[in-house]
Amino acid sequence: MPGRPSDPLWHAVSTFGLDFVHLPPGAAASRGAPVSPQTDPGISSVRRAMSDLAAEVAGCRACRLAETRKLPVFGEGNPDSGVVFVGEGPGQTEDETGRPFVGRAGQLLDRILASIDLDRTCCYIANAVKCRPPGNRVPLPDEMEACGWILERQLEIISPGVIVALGASAASALLGSRASIAQLRVGWHSRGEASLMVTYHPSAVLRTPALKRPVWEDMKKLRSRLNEIGLPRRSGNG
Ligand code: SF4
Repeated sequence: MPGRPSDPLWHAVSTFGLDFVHLPPGAAASRGAPVSPQTDPGISSVRRAMSDLAAEVAGCRACRLAETRKLPVFGEGNPDSGVVFVGEGPGQTEDETGRPFVGRAGQLLDRILASIDLDRTCCYIANAVKCRPPGNRVPLPDEMEACGWILERQLEIISPGVIVALGASAASALLGSRASIAQLRVGWHSRGEASLMVTYHPSAVLRTPALKRPVWEDMKKLRSRLNEIGLPRRSGNG
């Protein structure tokens, strides 16, 4: 079904920067009724575990990035959703606010999520490293290694059904692969019980608008997979 101005998702898709889309069957699946934290006993334990870990990370000085960061950026969203997006590391705005993906790339990520009927209340967003590399450089291997346990622990707590790696650093952290995004985005990967997709980082899309089309193709595949396995779980609040 081609996207048209009357389609429910059309506005979000058009802000993503495309003028024609073909949504997979069931792409606009109805949102499940929200589950109250008071009536879902699973929520509090997951959120408590995540909160405890965030408190632990707040004081982390295990690598040189602690010397120049303003705030560590732990991650945010819905840890009960079963869906996790992983980026590279905080930029300037994230470093100043302590929140992931809130600069220009984050605004684009929000539009990408909206284009497939997701938002920050129905996925979790984190980075491979939790502190800003100076000048937004790529995290160094020893920094990735020092920080890796935090992402691992987050994934253990969340136990996601689907992980999306945004860019090469996330793919390296999650798959241990240095292959190109063009190679890794072909097909799904497995990571534990989760299906893992690799796509371009929103910053790369901002630099190279031609990447909008492959990212949109990836998002259609993601939407189809989520529909197949009944994710995200839309319980709780971010
Ligand atoms: S980047 Fe990770 S390991 Fe390094 S100081 Fe920050 S939280 Fe700790």
